[in-house]
Amino acid sequence: ACSSAQSSGSSKPPKPSFSKQDLEHYEESGITHSQLSHVFQLSNFRPLQRAAINLSMSGKDLFLVMPTGRGKSLCYQLPALCSKGFTLVIAPLVSLMEDQLMYLKSVDVPAVTLNASSTKEDSKRVLAGMIDKNSPFKLLYVTPEKIAKSKLLMSKLDKAYNMGLLARIAVDEVHCCSQWGHDFRPDYKLLGILKRQFPKVPLVGLTATATSNVLKDCQKILCVQEPITLTAPFNRPNLYYEVLQNKERYKNQSGIVYVFSQKDAAAVATDLQKKNILAQPYHANMEPSDKSLVHQRWSSKKIQVVVATVAFGMGIDKADVRFVIHHTISKSIENYYQESGRAGRDDGSADCIVFFGFADIFRISTMVVMENTGQQKLQNMVAYCQNVDRCRRAMMAIHFDEVWNDDECNQMCDVCRHGNDYITMDITKHARDVVTIVEMASSMDEKLTPLKVCDAWLGKGPAKHRKTITVTSLSRLEVESVIIYLLLHGYFSEDFSFTPYTTHFYLKLGRKAALLKNDNHSITMKMKRRVMSHATVRQSINSAEVFIFHMQAVPFFHRF
Ligand code: ADP
Ligand code: MG
Ligand code: ZN
Repeated sequence: ACSSAQSSGSSKPPKPSFSKQDLEHYEESGITHSQLSHVFQLSNFRPLQRAAINLSMSGKDLFLVMPTGRGKSLCYQLPALCSKGFTLVIAPLVSLMEDQLMYLKSVDVPAVTLNASSTKEDSKRVLAGMIDKNSPFKLLYVTPEKIAKSKLLMSKLDKAYNMGLLARIAVDEVHCCSQWGHDFRPDYKLLGILKRQFPKVPLVGLTATATSNVLKDCQKILCVQEPITLTAPFNRPNLYYEVLQNKERYKNQSGIVYVFSQKDAAAVATDLQKKNILAQPYHANMEPSDKSLVHQRWSSKKIQVVVATVAFGMGIDKADVRFVIHHTISKSIENYYQESGRAGRDDGSADCIVFFGFADIFRISTMVVMENTGQQKLQNMVAYCQNVDRCRRAMMAIHFDEVWNDDECNQMCDVCRHGNDYITMDITKHARDVVTIVEMASSMDEKLTPLKVCDAWLGKGPAKHRKTITVTSLSRLEVESVIIYLLLHGYFSEDFSFTPYTTHFYLKLGRKAALLKNDNHSITMKMKRRVMSHATVRQSINSAEVFIFHMQAVPFFHRF
């Protein structure tokens, strides 16, 4: 058995899943729809909910990996109602618990919480209720800190366990256990005590994001012997994915705009306000009370848009988010999937749009410079944005090692919807020219930022940077695309330089640059065809491509 949270133990890795037949069996039997509709007023189970509920009811330990908003909570709330005693739920944030308690109250399910802000009387009542045979509540929400620090709570749990009243343990956001996960919480590391102390109580760990390594780690930390892992299909068919290089839209619909920095949050919010859009900023440095005020106003539709840094994340449970716009690209596809996935939780269609800006790549690159795999992850995100010929869902599916069939997109991404709007260009000569610029600079002991390289190539800035080459005929956007392509494919690479105040990003020759000296070497890249449509000529001028769709929607805002 697992003797300490740190023990390497002998536990096996989680089973990826069990057989398809097993799954079908659990998806089709056991808990009934009437139990679902009776209390929760929902008409159908979503994929895997029924299997998860039945497995947990039959006493199995379970890891449930399901995108955010798909309904993981139901998978312990419904079993809680159908079992004697109460279910212990560990959740990382008090705000998360409060949302759930509010919801449970609205459907008449008795639930309580114990956390740092509970009053003495509340705590007393809750602790007494835990060992009351009449079970005055079916769910008890606690923070991991409570488990780690409150001996009183542990003693009551012990007593409840011996009385057969501790029905189940749910560990929400279970990836917080693992340092490999992105939200590590030290107190989650101590939760192994639960399974060691209460081995007969089935445990369910829930998360939206864990990779199999993270799950293995969680399994070890939680001292779960042989959990069954259920992984929901990651595809969100109702989300429309798009990448733009500029643009507009949306009226009276709730949304989130993700930005790079606190400064950007304030600036973009102000821009939107000037356009009479009810927008407010949100970032980590705000007072907690201001943060929750913005969150509340947005939830109750008093404001339309939250302009946020990634600090606006966990605990956001608004069902009718109609758009998530990334004003700046995310630092990885994992982050993007998570952030954009906050749209359309009500199953209604919603848009997930990324504004792909050249300079942003380097801002993020320097931000993640300390992370081991930071550049690689960013490059994958950039490749997602740069892509013009592959279904965006397919790109994500491949990234997450999902089995994928291209029809599943159902025209719900810009690439599938707008089809083959790209041309294959031979960029060999262009590549030679731009690589020469960087080479020449370096022979003069100079380093060039990507922006300087663009300028030099377009004929701006000091002439010494383009002595042996001619000014390019490409547009600025094309110039940027070529440089990004060369960076993604190893003709250029990052050259960071650190000052006490900031990190600079320069371009240097990459491992493949020398190939360009070879006459037979050629490079082709897919680029968007230049299209000017009647509807968008107004403001597009220098964008290499313009999208027209949702013409019924009134133009919403412009990035630039
Ligand atoms: P998660 O924890 O996976 O992020 P939640 O459990 O918070 O998701 O559920 C998200 C939303 O989905 C909630 O509003 C919930 O009521 C709703 N929901 C859950 N199950 C169903 C279902 N079977 N049908 C319709 N809505 C559901
Ligand atoms: Mg949840
Ligand atoms: Zn597609």
